[in-house]
Amino acid sequence: MNGRIIILGIDGLEYNLVEEWDLKYIKQNAYTKTDLSDFKVIVTPPIWASMLTGRKVPEIEELFIKRIKFVTARSNISRTKTPWYVKLGVKILPLPIRRRLGDALTPRPMQATYDYLLRNKKYKTIFDYFDKTWTNGIPSYGRNVSNDEVRKAMKEAVKGNLKPLVEYAMKIYEQDRRALFGALDNDYELVFWYTPFLDEISHFYIGKKLKLMNIYFDLNRLVEKVSKKLDENDILYIISDHGMEPVPGSPYGGDHSDHGFFSSNTGELIGKPQELFYLVINKTERRGKF
Ligand SMILES: [Zn+2]
Repeated sequence: MNGRIIILGIDGLEYNLVEEWDLKYIKQNAYTKTDLSDFKVIVTPPIWASMLTGRKVPEIEELFIKRIKFVTARSNISRTKTPWYVKLGVKILPLPIRRRLGDALTPRPMQATYDYLLRNKKYKTIFDYFDKTWTNGIPSYGRNVSNDEVRKAMKEAVKGNLKPLVEYAMKIYEQDRRALFGALDNDYELVFWYTPFLDEISHFYIGKKLKLMNIYFDLNRLVEKVSKKLDENDILYIISDHGMEPVPGSPYGGDHSDHGFFSSNTGELIGKPQELFYLVINKTERRGKF
């Protein structure tokens, strides 16, 4: 293998906004919308798990499907049919009670699945095909994107106080950025960097375009800095799980759109997020060993 493979995983990066603001470093040499039509629910962990394994991981997705059925009757992130008793429940029960019912009937899926692929060796991941790899944690591979602090901040944001959420998200972004540049100074064969902050913040900023634009511009500058650290043969992929779009009537203001983003400095493109896995392992001689 020649150069390193660097993957920047930016949770919630919206294709349409990269296009609208013409962010050339993020777009790289070739870019596209990803196709999420295989997924019954457009939520974070199952999509990242599919990139890591090359296929859907039903054990992860099922927990989210079950949860969404109990808590929400209508949502743009779900393609599942809502049973009649949930429709009735939505009419007569307030959301906090539906959430409590959901908790009793299904575990919190974010917490239940955050390290699923590390615990369950049934699935080979992208990291098994290289000797020297690095990640700062990816949903389903050691990253819990739903801790008490972020849940509390989200609750405040729904009430109209965005400050704790913005502060929390920017703190995580800063930590993740520092970790990335540390990793780039080492000679890993595969670097899979991940940051969740944009998903969290875009739910609320999707209706505040100027604020969101500043953040997208900053991400564009981050990619510029990363590309300057690359050697000639290094490969850079940028990928998101899904995007974000305004949803009138949503308590957040916005919700996940049904496409993600992908770009490469090589000109290569993928259709579905799970194809990232094959794109990457086809670059190593070890692929024949499994
Ligand atoms: Zn996400």
